[in-house]
Amino acid sequence: MSTNNDLSSAIWKLFKMEDINTAIPDWRSLLDEYLVKKKDDADLSDMVVQTYWFADYLAKRRRKKLGVQYSETYANMKTLDKPTMSRKAGGTAYRDGHCTRAMIFTMLKKRMRYAFGNRSLTVKQGQASIFNILSTQGSKETQICPHCGSESPTVKCMNGCPYCGTKFTIKQYQNKIAGETPDTMGFEPFGFFLGSIAGTAVLFSIYSVIDNPYGHIVANLLSGLFIGGFVGVGVYFALVLFLFVFVYFPRIVRDNRLSDFCKRLRRTDPNLSTGELTSEFQTRVRTYFLAGKEDNIHFVSSLEASGDYTDVVDAMIVSYKRLFTIPNQHFLAIRAHMKIRLVRLKEGRLISEKLPFTVDLVRNIETKTQALPDNEVFVCPTCGAPISILEGGHCRFCGNTTDLSRFGFTMQFLMPGWV
Ligand SMILES: [Zn+2]
Ligand SMILES: [Zn+2]
Repeated sequence: MSTNNDLSSAIWKLFKMEDINTAIPDWRSLLDEYLVKKKDDADLSDMVVQTYWFADYLAKRRRKKLGVQYSETYANMKTLDKPTMSRKAGGTAYRDGHCTRAMIFTMLKKRMRYAFGNRSLTVKQGQASIFNILSTQGSKETQICPHCGSESPTVKCMNGCPYCGTKFTIKQYQNKIAGETPDTMGFEPFGFFLGSIAGTAVLFSIYSVIDNPYGHIVANLLSGLFIGGFVGVGVYFALVLFLFVFVYFPRIVRDNRLSDFCKRLRRTDPNLSTGELTSEFQTRVRTYFLAGKEDNIHFVSSLEASGDYTDVVDAMIVSYKRLFTIPNQHFLAIRAHMKIRLVRLKEGRLISEKLPFTVDLVRNIETKTQALPDNEVFVCPTCGAPISILEGGHCRFCGNTTDLSRFGFTMQFLMPGWV
């Protein structure tokens, strides 16, 4: 027994993995609080990482402007307390570059409900949710503004210093939610097993009643059920094989595309974290669709906020079709073919569409992910005032716009379709 434990803990250590119950003992109360806030469409500044918060803030603002109500609930809530035949919520944590990334695997299936007047639209997620939690080694309850030096609670600094408005990147988190990803599997083996047997048995007994081999309906039914039950076991294995080859395997490949890509990037940038990058890419895309003309979003630098998307209520990356780097001497340019879901308000009606887009995310080739959060304060090269990636590199003091790709990934290109 103890040998087994030693062996498994050695394997876990090898993969830098840890059980979520030891890594984040209070994950359940964190998740509960998050779910309540999502349901009430409440502000998330004390619960989520800054990039996630920023996109969420823009989405809230856009909904308010368009007069759309929003609530996010989950099906299968009971499975959190009562593990069903399938499985109960739990997870693992592992070192992922700059942070520890914990993933809570659940059976919860997201329902996003948008309402406009007496009309509503519910977008249902077919796959169960994995909740990503990020933690860095150190975290601070308060932040010192890099511009005016005043100290404020971290929660109040999400959109900049409450005194002077300077925005700065907060990259220390203690158990903050970075987002949700769909679970690839979400497969309930036992229910599926019973379903295959019952389904086959019913089909066989119907056939047996029609074919009438015994001349008596009860005998026909029973023999059909009996033979069908046995054949059902074979049908189950055949279906499982089919599902794995044609459904789950392609899904595993698709849903791991970004994290596999991050593994390759980590060879030259060891602090790069999948958890952070997922959230950063999501934020940049959401910002593009949800920011207004009044916002300076120069981290979509070559692109201005487009007038084509003012009816977008919400935007989210659904999946990555392809990720590759475009060879360039000065930049690390990542081109992503992705599917983006847009929820839009068209002529008073809410619609949801899943569309292909090509997005380029670009960073200076020498730039590496900083492990030390104190280095994440950016200054204007012209006047020395602090600037922020959240403000698009636009200096509020001298009006100069800095190319932010020397600090982190900026979105340089977005186009419908895969090119
Ligand atoms: Zn300040
Ligand atoms: Zn300046």
